Amino acid sequence: MNSQVQTGAGEHRFQAEVSRVLEIVIRSLYSHRDIFLRELLSNAADALDKLRFRAVTEHALLAEDPKLEIRIIPDGSEGTLTIVDTGIGMSRDELVSNLGTIARSGTKRFLEALKANGDGQASPELIGQFGVGFYSAFIVADLVEVTSRAAGSDEVWKWSSKGSETFEIAAVSDPHPRGTKVVLHLKDDAKDLQDEWKLKDLVRRYSDFLAFPIRLLVDPKKEDGFETVNKASALWRRPKKDITSEEYAEFWRHVTKEGGEPLESIHFNIEGTISFSALLYVPKEAPFGLFEPDRKSGVRLYVKRVFIMEDCEQLVPPWLRFLRGVVDSDDLPLNVSRELLQEDRVLVKIRKSVTAKVLAALEKMAEARPDDYRKFFEAFGAVLKEGFHFDRDSKDTLAKLLRAPSSKSDWTSLAEYVTRMPAEQDTIWYALGANRRSVESSPHAESLRSQGHEILWLTDPIDEWVTDTLREFEGKKLQSIMRAEASAKKIETPDEDPAQRSEVEALARHAAAMLKAEVEDVKLSTRLTESPACLTLPEGALHAHVERLLRAQRADMPAQKRIFELNPDHPLVKQLARRHAADSSSTEVDMWIRVLHDQATLAEGSPVTDPHRLARSMTDLLSRAMGAQGN
Ligand code: ADP
Ligand code: MG
Repeated sequence: MNSQVQTGAGEHRFQAEVSRVLEIVIRSLYSHRDIFLRELLSNAADALDKLRFRAVTEHALLAEDPKLEIRIIPDGSEGTLTIVDTGIGMSRDELVSNLGTIARSGTKRFLEALKANGDGQASPELIGQFGVGFYSAFIVADLVEVTSRAAGSDEVWKWSSKGSETFEIAAVSDPHPRGTKVVLHLKDDAKDLQDEWKLKDLVRRYSDFLAFPIRLLVDPKKEDGFETVNKASALWRRPKKDITSEEYAEFWRHVTKEGGEPLESIHFNIEGTISFSALLYVPKEAPFGLFEPDRKSGVRLYVKRVFIMEDCEQLVPPWLRFLRGVVDSDDLPLNVSRELLQEDRVLVKIRKSVTAKVLAALEKMAEARPDDYRKFFEAFGAVLKEGFHFDRDSKDTLAKLLRAPSSKSDWTSLAEYVTRMPAEQDTIWYALGANRRSVESSPHAESLRSQGHEILWLTDPIDEWVTDTLREFEGKKLQSIMRAEASAKKIETPDEDPAQRSEVEALARHAAAMLKAEVEDVKLSTRLTESPACLTLPEGALHAHVERLLRAQRADMPAQKRIFELNPDHPLVKQLARRHAADSSSTEVDMWIRVLHDQATLAEGSPVTDPHRLARSMTDLLSRAMGAQGN
């Protein structure tokens, strides 16, 4: 399997996975065969970007041939199409490892993704995404020759393959300009790809945004019979009004190596104390690993149009890490390094201004395209919400961007919630829990809902911190229905019996003494209608679901006590109170109290401390109830 790891020239076998990728690409992409050109041009542009970056510190690299360009040469008599770049080039080892093994490329992940796709078919999207674009050359060619000289080296090597099991590597003794030449020996049915108009059309359609001139040989008889086919200026530096949505989408595919289209393109120029251009994209779907804490953003840094680095995490705050695209600064030095960027003042200003622009764009999108905005928020809301915690300055804007389902609406903003509030309601209610079902069936909501209050269903762990920071919106207090201090106005029950009331109060005092180790207090509830009991959170305590998540990471987290609320109007509680009044040392009453407490614990989604005891008590109490029913 490792036979390609040889020195020198000769025949090599592709790694097994590479052969399979080749076979799949050729088989399933025939109907999209034109993509080969954009993949090869994209590689050429990447190679030119890399060269220009290295030349910042190694000026000599540009001295021999300063032209940075891509040439396309159709040759009818040879039946070939050649793509030449003056970029970074590849050494012998790079040819082998970049074009023949899975070491670097996404070949393996590509195969996994195909498997997940089910039908074993590749799509043009998958090709770019997993870095196997080069192999698309074999859709149109039955022999591909790649001759390359790495910048700064004298060695010239040629890689060639017929696209089956093997490739060859040979040293070339003739001089070769810096960069890479890819010669495609076109298949018989692909000869139309030599047509000038066809090539111009493909370049303009798919590769117009590339920042280097793409020059097509249109008249071989002339000394310089080349014509520049693309605009050859960085897309993000062009005026917004001149750019079509197709061009934005093509650039998105180039910069992200993903298929399809972005959900939103955000393009702006800032001029003033700092100057920069940015072209940022909001993807349609959350990329892999988005929720990992050390996930980098996918924004590229350019300085004065020179590509500096991929994934520059200082360009956008971590809570906008779903953004993809480019920022091009006029103020940073070309030889800037990742380390220098850490505390750069220019970067801080760029980040601030990017944040403001992106939030404004999201607000606009929410207004103009609510359906798209919902897609955005469902995919990235949990990340965006981190901003409440990390960027207090953006709090008010973030509050406007917040969305959630509620008891009255499938999907609502806070502003919409406020417009639905009845005049006497002064609180924005929310329930916080692990999922929609558990919050919707939460006993805490019973009385509020029966009185017509609307409740927001918040089910992201991060919501704990969002509400902690936000606290109020348009002068209305945000309040969790799970907190002890929160409750709806009690509905007066005129026939309340004072004697019964004091029995229930005595029961509550007894329960408080009994459960001292577990609960902070026992209170009579005003929030329950159907349930006999529930647990509420004292001031400052985390919601149960968040506490569980944190405990999963930190076992030594101190337990937080709850307040145990009994529903004084529930028949079960009334009955228990009566029994307690009749016999204050009844073990059966104690058993009932424990069962109610365990039940309330389960209702908040937490595990009970002693499941066996609960099971035994249930069996015991149920048996007695069956017995009491009589035979
Ligand atoms: P990707 O471009 O996504 O990395 P490809 O299959 O298109 O995947 O290319 C594989 C690798 O081969 C590239 O990452 C690059 O290192 C190398 N390569 C391809 N074409 C060129 C080129 N024209 N000049 C220099 N390196 C190239
Ligand atoms: Mg590529």
